[in-house]
Amino acid sequence: MTDINCTRGPISQETEAFLAAKTHTLLLDGQWVESASGETFETCDPATGEVIGHVARGGSADVDAAVSAARNAFEAGPWYAMTPMERSQLLWRIADIMETNIDELAELESLDQGKALYVGRWAEIPGAINQFRYFSGMATKIEGSTIPTSINYQPEGKEVFAYTQKVPVGVVGAIVPWNSPLVLTAMKLAPALAAGCTIVLKPSEDTSLTAIRLLQLMQEAGLPNGVVNLVTGYGNEAGAALAAHQDVDKITFTGSTATGRKILEASKGNLKRVTLELGGKSPVIIMPDADLSAAIPGAANAIFFNGGQVCIAGSRLYAHRSIYDEVVEGVAETAAEMKLGHGLDPATQMGPLVSAKHAAKVANYVSESKNDGASVICGGETLGVNQSFVSPAVVADAKSDSRIVQEEVFGPVLVVTPFDDVDEMVTFANDSPYGLAAGIWTEGLSSATRLASRIKAGTVWINSHAMYDASLPIGGMKQSGFGRDSGQAAMDNYLDLKTVCAIV
Ligand code: NAD
Repeated sequence: MTDINCTRGPISQETEAFLAAKTHTLLLDGQWVESASGETFETCDPATGEVIGHVARGGSADVDAAVSAARNAFEAGPWYAMTPMERSQLLWRIADIMETNIDELAELESLDQGKALYVGRWAEIPGAINQFRYFSGMATKIEGSTIPTSINYQPEGKEVFAYTQKVPVGVVGAIVPWNSPLVLTAMKLAPALAAGCTIVLKPSEDTSLTAIRLLQLMQEAGLPNGVVNLVTGYGNEAGAALAAHQDVDKITFTGSTATGRKILEASKGNLKRVTLELGGKSPVIIMPDADLSAAIPGAANAIFFNGGQVCIAGSRLYAHRSIYDEVVEGVAETAAEMKLGHGLDPATQMGPLVSAKHAAKVANYVSESKNDGASVICGGETLGVNQSFVSPAVVADAKSDSRIVQEEVFGPVLVVTPFDDVDEMVTFANDSPYGLAAGIWTEGLSSATRLASRIKAGTVWINSHAMYDASLPIGGMKQSGFGRDSGQAAMDNYLDLKTVCAIV
């Protein structure tokens, strides 16, 4: 593959205006302020390496201030006292104001994270808006139940009246990664706010900009002070301080399995509740009866969308031996034809990875696999002025216990393996520490549903991959974590169940 043009396309006046601020601060109790240390860190356009802003480097003192503001808003401030209908209306207004600013949000996401503009503009930012609309409806539907009891020792003439209430867990620390920053942030904020919780948000140090812009928009929509606080900064500083904080009731985390373990460890001090949305190594299975005109582009999209930097990316492809050659050829052809370029060039299908450092790590998986006996059919080279692009790669003949098959590469790298029968394929698919998602391509829907129940994954798609909706719970089995984002199930992350039992 020849090297690529990293020149970015035009950006809107609104995006220019946001970037003109140059230095971006923390949001503590409704005020935009510098970090206690006064320090900042650079944020870059990954395609070129150009510095596009400086972001406040929050630390433990800032986390203390943010948690205290969130606690006050929860216990004494306006949020807890607001009616469910008022909370619902605010969430809807946030969605509306995001929609008005959708082009700017998509541009900022491309500039900061690298993703091709269409990914943000048509998939992720609309997805983020839908989170606020969906959970706006939930705020007014948090119901307990009345419970008939068999208690018979109440005083003569009295009755037992028992019921449950669902109450907000309190102050939530939300820690999110860099691959799809805004939609993953919305997946935390929308249900937590609908439940009546207050929040301290810690975005990834690699992609802080859309979180900052989102909170500005939320303020415009009428978010009361202290209800959502923003502490930008590094994971081992701001993130670690939030995870360990004694006055945080709940951590909702999306990120790597390695960091998930640290979060769990840090949460022990006050036994805070934890939800972990972690890594994946999702299998895509193509059965011999699949419609290959849909399955081949579907499998390619499952891995190459957003440069493979997707937790549910279909990074292991298992195709029946009778169609294996045709599938591999088709996916490799798609890979070779993909147009790489700056995320803000409208012609770009795949942008750079989030950083040159990450691109080098991804490319290393491919070269290491070659040394380990695998055949690299295409791709796996770093490209571009900043060496932050990786050409989409297809790798065959990798050993099932090799790193490229077992570990999450989190880039545009697909490992392909043939299978001969269904039992062998199920063994291959489940041979992973992860259990986030899977895709099955077949025309036999009844065998597909039977197969779906044998694959250990939180989500199984049939004749599709990565179909998201705010109504569909998403989350992992095994080391992909626990708890669910999206859907009614997400409300459980932010609600405690209280039983009230009275003699009346
Ligand atoms: P990461 O674990 O390195 O970082 C995630 C967040 O945690 C960042 O904000 C980071 O600053 C913070 N962090 C790092 N160390 C910390 C610590 N010691 N204490 C507290 N916070 C800390 O992950 P990443 O590289 O940003 O994101 C990629 C990972 O996210 C992949 O593994 C991907 O699969 C996963 N992911 C999962 C889902 C899902 O829904 N399951 C969705 C998207 C991404």
